[in-house]
Amino acid sequence: LPAPDPADPAGLDDLLSEDEKEVRSAVRQMLDASAEPYIAEWFENGGIPNIRELTKELGSLGVLGMHLEGYGCAGMSAVEYGLACLEIEATDSGLRSLVSVQGSLAMFAIWRWGSEEQKQEWLPQMAAGDAIGCFGLTEPDVGSDPGSMQTRARRDGDDWVLDGRKMWISNAPYADVAVVWAKTDEGVRGFIVPTGTPGFSAPEIKHKLSLRASATGELVLDGVRLPASAMLPEARGLKGPLACLNEARYGIVWGSLGAARSSMETARRYARERVQFGKPIGAFQLTQQKLADMSLEYTKGYLLALHLGRRKDSGLLRPEQVSIGKLNNVREAIEICRTARTILGANGISLEYPVIRHQNNLESVLTYEGTVEMHTLVLGQLLTGEPAFR
Ligand code: FAD
Repeated sequence: LPAPDPADPAGLDDLLSEDEKEVRSAVRQMLDASAEPYIAEWFENGGIPNIRELTKELGSLGVLGMHLEGYGCAGMSAVEYGLACLEIEATDSGLRSLVSVQGSLAMFAIWRWGSEEQKQEWLPQMAAGDAIGCFGLTEPDVGSDPGSMQTRARRDGDDWVLDGRKMWISNAPYADVAVVWAKTDEGVRGFIVPTGTPGFSAPEIKHKLSLRASATGELVLDGVRLPASAMLPEARGLKGPLACLNEARYGIVWGSLGAARSSMETARRYARERVQFGKPIGAFQLTQQKLADMSLEYTKGYLLALHLGRRKDSGLLRPEQVSIGKLNNVREAIEICRTARTILGANGISLEYPVIRHQNNLESVLTYEGTVEMHTLVLGQLLTGEPAFR
């Protein structure tokens, strides 16, 4: 038997098909050419200057709405989509957020809940990366409890008029279209809002120390008038946005492992090269313990992601199971980054290495798409039958 690869000690690669490996390497190749060399600078400067070109390139690669069928989408499997998320987040969580928000939140909302006309109008241009989407659920006073949302949509003749504020919305500052959730007399409904509509604006949220390569904005809705055809006809109540979040969370189960892998590999290389007390620091037992623990948690997280992916491909994945994956993998990924950071010593806090960038990014990933606490309560309810949310 050949010796195990130190980058894949448990031999996880054997669990993937040739097609799955090809998808992974196509995504890696594109990122190595178009993002990896610039990502630290984008993070430092707080944005991606060529966001439109990069989004189009991601579109040509087929990763926008990658797991959706029809309307110009690639129709790949859930596992292939997961592997793409892992590679993208190994470059940066902000880039993976761009892809998740586009494909799993904005496009998925239209694909799952939209009319045929809405799908025809929006999905092909979003899959190609010609139009960028965002997804507005969170508000300044409403986060984990979206049922309390204050944004309102009221009828005026055949039109709808939207008033309210959304907060912390990824992609908002450069989005062409926003999927906005608002309360109506008949409960929560979703609306497709072209961002040029009068009364709509999306000022950027500044001063973030996390996900700096991803633009985050507010959505200001002041009497935004939309035709009746702007409403997503099939989404009624909170299950509309929650179904979308479940899709995006699935991508995070995989994506967070990418940030972990990049940090862990950086630390492993560093430990072999950095010499103190006359030895590479990787020769000290305490460093080996850290590397071993990181590797174990990564391996377990990967097996969980792959298991959930195979379930999704068989149509058997429950939202509570996505919570298990999101809770475990993001929590362990950030722990891996923190441990990797210590191995790099002072260099660990520098943007010259990816580790502190991944670690800071994962602080957002820990909070968005359901906080650690929310997913703990989901699992708690599953285990005890007792909801403890309120
Ligand atoms: P809160 O809900 O106010 O929670 C604060 C703390 O209290 C958390 O620790 C929480 O777990 C805890 N808490 C709340 N309720 C309970 C309870 N019942 N029991 C125990 N603990 C509780 N939103 C969008 O709609 N679209 C986006 O594109 C988007 N992008 C984002 C990008 C970034 C960079 C960030 C940081 C956030 C983004 N969000 C987005 C918002 C994100 O989804 C919310 O931040 C998240 O849902 C948590 O809401 P909150 O920040 O208001 O925290």
